[in-house]
Amino acid sequence: MAGKLTCATHGAQDETFVCVHIIKTLKDGEPRGFWWGNHDGVFEAICSACNDLSEEDFLAQGPDIIAPLCFGCFCDAAAMNGVDIA
Ligand SMILES: [Zn+2]
Ligand SMILES: [Zn+2]
Repeated sequence: MAGKLTCATHGAQDETFVCVHIIKTLKDGEPRGFWWGNHDGVFEAICSACNDLSEEDFLAQGPDIIAPLCFGCFCDAAAMNGVDIA
């Protein structure tokens, strides 16, 4: 089950988790890839650079590499990368 958070733009939303590079894309509008999945009802996504890393190398970047994001922003980031969340 996804947790809830309140977004300044989208209001009360399901909580998702993304890499910080996707947060950067939301800020500067530059697509960095959007590799998403849904694990136990929680949406997650990482950029192409993170997707190219082994799981070990990805985790070696430290816990700050992943940030919570509202589902509305998650969909916005997907759209910026031309990805459809169906
Ligand atoms: Zn990334
Ligand atoms: Zn939002």
